Amino acid sequence: MTRNEVDKKYKWNLSDMVKSADEFEKLFKDVETALPALASYKGKLGDRAAALEFFKLDGEVERKLELIYIWSHMYKDEDAKNGEAMSLAMRTDGLAARCGETVAFIDSELSALDKATLDAYIADPDFAEYDFSLKEVLRRKAHILSDREEALLAMSSDALRTTTNVAHMLFDADMKFEPVVKGGKKIELNNSSYGELLGDENREVRKSAFNNLYDGYIAHINTLAANYAGSVKGDNFVARARGYKDGLEMSMFGDGVPSSVYTNLIDAVNKNFAPLHRYIALRKKLLGLKEQHMYDLYVPVIENAEMKLPYEEACQTVLTALAPMGDEYVGLLKRAMTEGWIDVMPSAGKRGGAYSWSAYSAHPYVLLNYTPTTEDIFTLAHELGHCLHSYYSQNGQPFSKWNYQIFVAEVASICNETLLDEYLMKNVKDVNIKKYLLSLRLNRFRTTLFRQAMFAEFEYNAHKMDLEGKPLTVDNLSGMYLELNKKYYGADVVSDDKIAYEWSRIPHFYNAFYVYKYSTGMTAATSIAQNILKNPEYVNVYKNKFLKAGGHKLPYDILCDAQVDLATVKPYDDAFAFFNAALDELEELCK
Ligand SMILES: [Zn+2]
Repeated sequence: MTRNEVDKKYKWNLSDMVKSADEFEKLFKDVETALPALASYKGKLGDRAAALEFFKLDGEVERKLELIYIWSHMYKDEDAKNGEAMSLAMRTDGLAARCGETVAFIDSELSALDKATLDAYIADPDFAEYDFSLKEVLRRKAHILSDREEALLAMSSDALRTTTNVAHMLFDADMKFEPVVKGGKKIELNNSSYGELLGDENREVRKSAFNNLYDGYIAHINTLAANYAGSVKGDNFVARARGYKDGLEMSMFGDGVPSSVYTNLIDAVNKNFAPLHRYIALRKKLLGLKEQHMYDLYVPVIENAEMKLPYEEACQTVLTALAPMGDEYVGLLKRAMTEGWIDVMPSAGKRGGAYSWSAYSAHPYVLLNYTPTTEDIFTLAHELGHCLHSYYSQNGQPFSKWNYQIFVAEVASICNETLLDEYLMKNVKDVNIKKYLLSLRLNRFRTTLFRQAMFAEFEYNAHKMDLEGKPLTVDNLSGMYLELNKKYYGADVVSDDKIAYEWSRIPHFYNAFYVYKYSTGMTAATSIAQNILKNPEYVNVYKNKFLKAGGHKLPYDILCDAQVDLATVKPYDDAFAFFNAALDELEELCK
């Protein structure tokens, strides 16, 4: 279908954001002409009156820029062949870069102010909208070095990025793999076809995908180990240069989350391998295998039983499933579904996948490529979770504090998925669909909570080994990884020798201490969904303390306000109980 052939009711209405091309040009001009004015404040932020004027002007400009930036990119996402949209998006890219350069002085200039001045700004009611950013400047000040040292670190940053570049060159360009033979045909093996081949029903196909892929990595394994060692050393170097204990502390400080959240995740999972081992044993039984191997872990154990709902029915299902969120929330969902907030159908040239995106000054938007599958009903609930999180934050916070941070970004979306999952499990009659839903839930938990926790533990160990002077050789890294693999997956799967090299193919490891957020996000969301279902009054806590909170506090503190403390065992107990209940039910249904 072309975009013109799609019914209007399935399209978003971008004119709620920017009314016309004329309005776009006007906003563009406003931002452009304000740049010299913004630049004129350089060197003046130590003066109270000038600083206040600057923050106000900067906020107005950023707000307009955000509007035209998001509008032009969403317009382009409707159809990549629309030349007008493409050129508008490119113009706003350029404008955003110029704006960024113009105000690049803010951070260093504010950090250079003495504590007394910053404290006075923070205490000043006129600066109330900006107090969180100012507190952040103060918090980060302790790790800002002298001008000369900062200049040295800035000069080294390009060289330190080399390990990431090398990894991507190897992964995406230089490494070649033996093809996999399927049904007499040779299929090209690469990092993107691997996932599908590993889920193949034919065991020989997935086994050879596994072996051929790892052979490709093993052929470069000394290079990969040396490169990863360089990345770890770079993390620890910058961290210690900036006065942190190690790379973990630096990274968590940047996230606004205590390091204890990270170690607590690892501890909690290490105390709860039993449910994961039970799941692995059940897979083995359902697949009827004498010996289960690592290449058997991605093949579906339950026959695919899709709920093929037309979009309108999917909407109805999501509305009913999210009823525990209260009338106001459901009312907003209905508005999103009927007032042009969502672009529903796939069409030629439209951007693939799904997202939710929003500017402060307009309602949030959702892009979908809806097809009648079970997964897409979950995607609808997921993206609407982001959408309403943004809506509430827009209405609960001023512009300077409305954006929420990555640590909490996936909580509202996964919470909605969990509520949908619980609703479907209670209301679907068809046993095959129930079994399929349970298998999806268990798989999501394995790959998001457990697998990412194992990655987090690997990164933690590797950085620690480096600090303790233990060389990051192939043997040391792979030996440590294999032990982790055995510990996590237990006795009902063979930890094949080649899995020891899995660490070498994870691109996220070049962005250290990132993946833990998948595990903590899922844990927090599961805990919140359980609270909502058990205690209707909790919905108000969640709405007022979390959804409306935007980024007005550190993300860890926001979750604590919503009664989810990820430095304690409680959220993990909730999440593992949810996983265990699904296992009980699937075992029962499969008897
Ligand atoms: Zn998401």
